[in-house]
Amino acid sequence: MKIGIDIGGSHIGIGLVDGYNLIDTIDRFFSKDDKKDITNAIIRIIDELLNELLNKNNVSINMIEGIGVASPGTITDGKITSFNLGLKSFDLKSKLKEKYHLNVSVRNDGKCAAMVEKVYGAMKDYDDCVFINIGTGIGGAAFLGGKLLEPKKYSGFEFGHMTLVKNGIECTCGKKGCFERYCSIKALKTKITNTLNIDSADISGQYLREELMVKYHDEVQNDINEFIEYLKVGVCNLIDIFEPEIICFGGSFSYYEGHPVLDKLIEEINKPESTFNSEKHKIVTAQFKNDAGIIGATIS
Ligand SMILES: [Zn+2]
Repeated sequence: MKIGIDIGGSHIGIGLVDGYNLIDTIDRFFSKDDKKDITNAIIRIIDELLNELLNKNNVSINMIEGIGVASPGTITDGKITSFNLGLKSFDLKSKLKEKYHLNVSVRNDGKCAAMVEKVYGAMKDYDDCVFINIGTGIGGAAFLGGKLLEPKKYSGFEFGHMTLVKNGIECTCGKKGCFERYCSIKALKTKITNTLNIDSADISGQYLREELMVKYHDEVQNDINEFIEYLKVGVCNLIDIFEPEIICFGGSFSYYEGHPVLDKLIEEINKPESTFNSEKHKIVTAQFKNDAGIIGATIS
């Protein structure tokens, strides 16, 4: 049994994991105060949630084999640098090791989610795969010949920060026109709530997808079309680079299975003029949905 921790842009989720089974999970959203002192908040929230989870399941810490953390950003030797969270070389690995005396691994959240889909989920029967995690930001991973591609120094595969628009919207990474500025679910939510002139703070992903986009279909159609156009360009670039047998969408975008936005995107990607090798591409959504980070973090 392992502990999986998923640090997101807005919350922390923690779970008891056995293989690909998520035995139990709890989570907590960051408050405005938490964001002012994010490193201490992360350590405090993990400690509170971990104790709550163990107590709730009558499990003691010495029954735990290890802790895996999925985090946004670049991870170097267990240290997290994330522009979205405001973390710079935050040594969470050492802090958790000292506290719980367990093996701790920290990995980029996109890679964790990709691992769980490759080992247990939607990509398990394929060798050449591209996984694109679309949520607050955009991350991902690629497998060729069944092997996860990993550069030596940094995380690599910063799909979200490839430049899509010359001199475009400024990004938290310091560049301009990054893919995730146009195609994250956060970017889509910002666009739609701006158009409808409503506060985006309390809008959940589900409400955005099932209520706003349906009820105000005509008003937000331009925003949605633009989102699909940009996303198509980014995804087709990745298809042309990696020639994957399968493309899997994870993160909150995985909940768009069967939604007109994803259906339209797939239709656009599969047009003969969209990619270099104009064949039909296999495009699926992640099976493990938002639990992918927690479970994937524990795969060694
Ligand atoms: Zn960027």
